[in-house]
Amino acid sequence: MTGPRVRFAPSPTGFFHVGSARTSLFNWLFARQSGGTFILRVEDTDAERNREEWHEGILTAMAWLGLDFDEGPFLQSDLLADHAAAAAALLANGYLYACDCTREQIDERIKGNAKPGYDGHCRDRHVARTDRTALRFRVPDVGVTVVPDMVRGDVAFPHDSYEDFIVVKSNGAVLYPLANLVDDRSMRVTHVIRGEDLLPTTPKQVMMWEALNHCVGVDPVAHPFYAHLPMLVNEQRKKLSKRKDPVAIESYRDQGYLASALVNYLALLGWSPHGDEEIVPLTTLVAQFRLEDVSHSPAFFDVKKLTHINGEYIRQLSAADFIAASAPWVAPWLGDWHPTDRDVPWTREQFSDSLYERVAPLVQERVTTLGEIPAMVRFFFVDDVAIDDAAFDKAIGGDPVGQALLADAVAAFETIEWSAATLHDTTTALGEARGLVLRKSQAPIRCAVTGTLVGPPLFESLELLGRDVTLARLRAALDRARS
Ligand code: GLU
Ligand code: ZN
Repeated sequence: MTGPRVRFAPSPTGFFHVGSARTSLFNWLFARQSGGTFILRVEDTDAERNREEWHEGILTAMAWLGLDFDEGPFLQSDLLADHAAAAAALLANGYLYACDCTREQIDERIKGNAKPGYDGHCRDRHVARTDRTALRFRVPDVGVTVVPDMVRGDVAFPHDSYEDFIVVKSNGAVLYPLANLVDDRSMRVTHVIRGEDLLPTTPKQVMMWEALNHCVGVDPVAHPFYAHLPMLVNEQRKKLSKRKDPVAIESYRDQGYLASALVNYLALLGWSPHGDEEIVPLTTLVAQFRLEDVSHSPAFFDVKKLTHINGEYIRQLSAADFIAASAPWVAPWLGDWHPTDRDVPWTREQFSDSLYERVAPLVQERVTTLGEIPAMVRFFFVDDVAIDDAAFDKAIGGDPVGQALLADAVAAFETIEWSAATLHDTTTALGEARGLVLRKSQAPIRCAVTGTLVGPPLFESLELLGRDVTLARLRAALDRARS
């Protein structure tokens, strides 16, 4: 295949972050629209911070989002020999040199220097390579390194702002900048699309890439294009914080965001389609996405907007798809995935598939996340609705007219035809007789039957719940008011 080759190269050091998902998506969109290849490379060389579960989390989240890759997953830890060989070539060709300075010695020497960082002390000392020496890159004294960036244009980094940085630690570990670029070379990556936080490392990588191309015995490889994606910020315009902001993709899935909605929203973080629509189908994203159109100003990760988009996607589902999508939240015992740490308010025995199928359309219009469903439909399945005290006082306990209406309803509901339409008309008439508009006359009934003052359409709900349960709850609420 001759199309572009891109890679997503996450480090499995924590929950899969919305920023990583955005990076992964932009790589995927670029590959899919250009007929290119999308590679997954897990950069797992930081043994202390890696955990198997984070690695699993990346694969699960990408599969859930639908970001399928064409090659990989490769593990960077399987490629250590390549990294060592590249370091050896750079050393043999004079691009690296050994340095035996201790941190203390360096700090002592550079105090007061205009140029920050290491002072090049060992550059020409010909220190022998041992397990006490690091290898540093000889940064040219003058000139600039230009990073060709499709988002920012050419960015020039003057060499005098770079110290001779460490490439290989004294223990032999090849650090991320070289390991990462060696893998990009061997995987013939043509476009490096990644977060802006990595931009400061890029000139070092461009310098080393160039140096490798000049090493004897190393095949030259064309430099990749870069695209550094804008930072994601919170409402305070601060970089999203792993601790303070809700950033884990897993938690969005647990709360009942749809993958399609999340993908749509993530695509808008730093990029926008032609026109100003918010709801953009995947095919349109793939067709219209251009790295050149990515903005370089920070992108606000707006949970409210995401939630709004999610609600739109939920409403677009067919009734059957909505039922299927909500199953993990209402009947978690059914499938092979269900949200973590979320209790279902009913037992498996209390739940009824056939009743839920009829209830679902009543709530599909009203929820913005699937996780809101259980609280909203709880009263259909549990025996004891446990009326919220504040709601009870407001609609029944502390409202004599509401209480009287409840008594009227008990009497009337015993005999009327049991349908949403008749329940509606009867309640309207009972309310009018007491000077109440429907919104007011519904309240005590809703409160008694559902336990709260908000929820799915009342009369449809009562029809589904049946006469006996409805009357029993109305009577129980009256008894509580009178006691
Ligand atoms: N593995 C590194 C990270 O996740 C680098 C990624 C890259 O070069 O794309 O921060
Ligand atoms: Zn030194």
